[in-house]
Amino acid sequence: MSDRGRGQTVLVLGGGVGGVATANRLRRRLDRRHRVVLVNREADFSFASSYLWVMSGQRRPDQVTRPLQRLQRRGIEVVIAEVRHIDPNKRTVTVDGRDLAADHLVVTLGADWVTDRVPGLADHGHTFATLPGAQKLAGELDGIERGRIVVVTAAPLYKCPGAPYEAALLIDAGLRARGVRDRVALAVRSAEPAPLPVAGRPRPRMPTAAPSTSMSRGSGWAITRWRWRTCPAVDPGLGNRRPARGKQPTLAREGEHAWLRVTHLIDTKKIREYDLAVELLVDLRDLSERKGHLEDLRRRGQQLRQQYPNRPGLLQRLDRAGFVALATPSPDQPASTGSR
Ligand SMILES: Cc1cc2nc3c(=O)[nH]c(=O)nc-3n(C[C@H](O)[C@H](O)[C@H](O)COP(=O)(O)OP(=O)(O)OC[C@H]3O[C@@H](n4cnc5c(N)ncnc54)[C@H](O)[C@@H]3O)c2cc1C
Repeated sequence: MSDRGRGQTVLVLGGGVGGVATANRLRRRLDRRHRVVLVNREADFSFASSYLWVMSGQRRPDQVTRPLQRLQRRGIEVVIAEVRHIDPNKRTVTVDGRDLAADHLVVTLGADWVTDRVPGLADHGHTFATLPGAQKLAGELDGIERGRIVVVTAAPLYKCPGAPYEAALLIDAGLRARGVRDRVALAVRSAEPAPLPVAGRPRPRMPTAAPSTSMSRGSGWAITRWRWRTCPAVDPGLGNRRPARGKQPTLAREGEHAWLRVTHLIDTKKIREYDLAVELLVDLRDLSERKGHLEDLRRRGQQLRQQYPNRPGLLQRLDRAGFVALATPSPDQPASTGSR
């Protein structure tokens, strides 16, 4: 039989929002001779956006989950198994010891949480980013009578940029409803310069990440920032530890996060943040020198200059910090002279 007549198999790896939406859409569009097979490690689909309501007691877990097997009614085959290996040459995927053949592969395995990167976080911290975590946290919040709650964004990259702030507001409302708000201090420690940095520069009404913000004023809120440093450690006695100024215990482990911090700081278009960006670049240069990775630093320096050719304030600071030599401008890109 020719390929045109032969039924093909589309394997969708991951049964989260992306996988389920893709499988549904493919099933609707493809002729029935083609198979759509969805693989997921858990038997249930769960809707992460509602985890915050599980945390605040407004939803039960069974209200935000559905068995994936129900997709079979629509003609989608469901395999509950762990994906172990993908072989693009053989077009096979190994799941729990057996191979599944695929003509086409869709990978929607999402992002996993790596709590062991921050010492103490797994043992002493809670999370609303997983369903069991949100359930457990709901119980803790229900029992709290006094103390201090700190909502931490441990690194600038995480699944939902709005979730920590929404969580803090929901926790605030829950404590008020129980009449204990005046006995519980609430703080957000953010690893980013403003809430929702993906939304661009802070809107006038949006609280910025400085201690004296609209969120903090008169409401018992404290929002502080860590100059884009990741949360270095969690200590049950201290709540969390602020990184020591001048030291970058986690910079080497931050990898791509550190570069993301540089671009986010530059994107604020604020002189103060340019200083922080260049300070961070200098730290990264020191690190690169120690590790002998200067080539990568040069390439990134070049990229930064090409990305922000019209930021004289930034280019001057890069020059002053000695980053001139790092980047050779492209032929159509004049070098900064520091005089603009
Ligand atoms: C608390 C919270 C609130 C949020 N609120 C919003 C919101 O209001 N609006 C919004 O747009 N987004 C929100 N998000 C983000 C949104 O949930 C994610 O962007 C979305 O879930 C990503 O979908 P995905 O399919 O790519 O990955 P996921 O939903 O993570 O799905 C990946 C799936 O793959 C499975 N999987 C992973 N590895 C394997 C493996 N090796 N073998 C088998 N299966 C595997 C996982 O178990 C999971 O089922 C929120 C996220 C959180 C945590």
